[in-house]
Amino acid sequence: MTQDARMDHVEHWMAIARHTPLGILCDLDGTLVPFASAPEEARPDHDAVSLIEDLAALPGVVVAIVSGRPAEWLERFFPTPSIRLVAEHGAMRRGAGAWENVLNLDPTPLAALAEELVTLAARHPGSVIERKGTTVALHYRNVRRGRRGELIVEAYGIIDRFLTRQPAYERLEGILVTEIRPASVKKSSAVPWMREIAGPGARLIAIGDDVTDEHMFQALAPQDESIVVRVTETRRTFARWELENPNEVRAVLRYIHAMRAGHSPPSTTLPREIAPPRSPQITFDHELLVVSNRLPDFRQVEGEEGLRRKNVGGLVSALEPALRARGGMWLGWSGRTVPDAESVANGVIDDGTAQFAWLDYKEAWYQNYYSGFCNGTLWPLFHSFPSRVSLSDKGWNAYREVHEVIADVASEHVGRRGMIWAHDYHLLLFAHVMRQKGHNGPIGHFLHIPFPSPDIFSMLPWAGEVLDALLDFDLLGFHTQGFVANFLACVSSLLPARVTDDVISHRGRFTHVTAMPIGILPATFQEPPEPAIVEEIEGLMRSLGESRLVLGVDRLDYTKGIPERLLAFGRLLEMFPDWRGKVSLIQISVPSRADVPLYAEQRATIESIVGRVNGEFGEAAWVPIRYLYRSYSKAQLSQLYRAASVGYVTPLRDGMNLVAKEYVAAQDPESPGVLLLSQFAGAAVEMREAILTNPHHTDGMARDLDRSLRIDLKERKARHAKLLASVQRSNAVTWAEGFLDALSACR
Ligand code: UDP
Repeated sequence: MTQDARMDHVEHWMAIARHTPLGILCDLDGTLVPFASAPEEARPDHDAVSLIEDLAALPGVVVAIVSGRPAEWLERFFPTPSIRLVAEHGAMRRGAGAWENVLNLDPTPLAALAEELVTLAARHPGSVIERKGTTVALHYRNVRRGRRGELIVEAYGIIDRFLTRQPAYERLEGILVTEIRPASVKKSSAVPWMREIAGPGARLIAIGDDVTDEHMFQALAPQDESIVVRVTETRRTFARWELENPNEVRAVLRYIHAMRAGHSPPSTTLPREIAPPRSPQITFDHELLVVSNRLPDFRQVEGEEGLRRKNVGGLVSALEPALRARGGMWLGWSGRTVPDAESVANGVIDDGTAQFAWLDYKEAWYQNYYSGFCNGTLWPLFHSFPSRVSLSDKGWNAYREVHEVIADVASEHVGRRGMIWAHDYHLLLFAHVMRQKGHNGPIGHFLHIPFPSPDIFSMLPWAGEVLDALLDFDLLGFHTQGFVANFLACVSSLLPARVTDDVISHRGRFTHVTAMPIGILPATFQEPPEPAIVEEIEGLMRSLGESRLVLGVDRLDYTKGIPERLLAFGRLLEMFPDWRGKVSLIQISVPSRADVPLYAEQRATIESIVGRVNGEFGEAAWVPIRYLYRSYSKAQLSQLYRAASVGYVTPLRDGMNLVAKEYVAAQDPESPGVLLLSQFAGAAVEMREAILTNPHHTDGMARDLDRSLRIDLKERKARHAKLLASVQRSNAVTWAEGFLDALSACR
């Protein structure tokens, strides 16, 4: 800072400190008082209390402690009535002496939630449940890092169920704490309240360290000031200024006091720490950046709100604990496109659970990168559908261009030594472009689809370039050992690299290669359903009459083998006429890539087979195939899975197939259904106790279906128990943690 700039800065703060009326809103934990390992140990000391009392005694100054703590707790340390108190993030506040309850909620449901969380915490050493009047908080600062994921996943299950039933509440993430509290109350409510108390012309200063304090910062007016206190796991902030720790906060408060009380130097010297001001948005290097083509579960909300999170889906649930435990960020496409002539926007959303950086795509990128090279070239190629592969230079150029764009945005969010985890076939060149930009931290990649054999892969004119770029990753993860073997065979045949079973050395770099099958969160498929969902699924089952249910659930994609499956069901009715009237197939097909002609064709093919089979075998009281072209929620699917005698999961080729695992997780262990699984799904490697079938062989699949329907209870239970144990052992959290541990170990 130049001498002149320093003078301006000093004058700026002098003016604020002397302004009348002045309102000071100060958070407690982590701001005025250092963190302690247990919440009850972090108490305001004498120095902090007397500093606040001195400030509150000054004419023209109003001071409020704005905290998440309960009212009684604050009252104990700050009994002086002239100090304003805001407790529980704004739910309770003490104006001129008297407390007011801003809300009036029935405390019973929250008490039940607290009890459930206490039971959970008892199983997770180090976790603490803090109960306040209208809020419950789960602290996991003292839970071992590697164990936090499990706790968070379980806790989210409980909390999400509560939030669905109690919309008046919301979940708020602090630093290693999750809090459930009334949705309408935020610390921001303290801002207008203080402005009114301070009176016309007031300037406010808000100081805090936590996400909850950001609400306060956001609510301030231009004439006000905001100061964030840095913490190790930082985030983007709305604050204009930054201090390092509570000691520096106290120094600034002392300075304000000295300026107003007419003291002389040195106490009236502006503490150095507050200068120079940081940028309004503190740039922040995340320890972990997850990058995927599409941001999970975002949707565009009309109006000013822009993008918002929807319900949490599979991959997010798997990664969210890891992201949160590491202070990570997720970067991906917003799902929006802008005309090519316009510049593309990017930004960050912090939805209270994690941070998400988004970017828009140009129309041309959507056409040539996403629909073109990703879904028109790589998808069919990697799934071994060579006749469906389309090749164009335009697609390849767009693929490279979009990598550059995403890498530029990524570089804004992750330090050069930070860890990056890129996902899937959309980002095969990602490590390569990041290395060119100087990134030297670990970068890993997980491929969620199969990796083809060399004869198929070498169809790609840029096969060598793609492999060479892949070897800029430190770790490459695949679902199965078979995909690893294909990849190694491709490298051996196309590159002058040294290849062993699990490490490739090329251009002086080492790339580790591993099979790591992705899992699900099995417990979430056993959650008790909402009555409305039970009713809906029972209604659907009633429409089948006495028939037993065979269930297919897929995105509508040619790799899923839906026509083959429907034909085999028709063949079953032909070969084993006893099943007529006694078994029905429900095929759920989730609309996918509907703007791509191949997918539209597939839909027409499926609909015509459904019509044919139903026409040939259907009776007045029995429809053989119910075809549902729509998507269902996880809760609805769980009920359908449970009701189905056979989980009919027969893709022609699939990286993993989560539906197979979900079907197993949702069964009643006392009377489980049978999983009929394609031998070409990645899941077949782990799920050997399923009935494995060849989806290309209609007669064989019909016979396997017949067998699946006839298996007795004893065998069903034995098969299910083994499948369930495997689904539980290797789940989404162990997968995410396992990958990140392996990536750390690469360096
Ligand atoms: N799914 C869903 N609603 C539906 C159908 C499917 O949420 O109506 C989910 C399903 O629970 C599973 C995912 O979509 O988690 C499909 O994953 P899978 O690995 O089986 O296939 P993918 O679509 O990824 O190729």
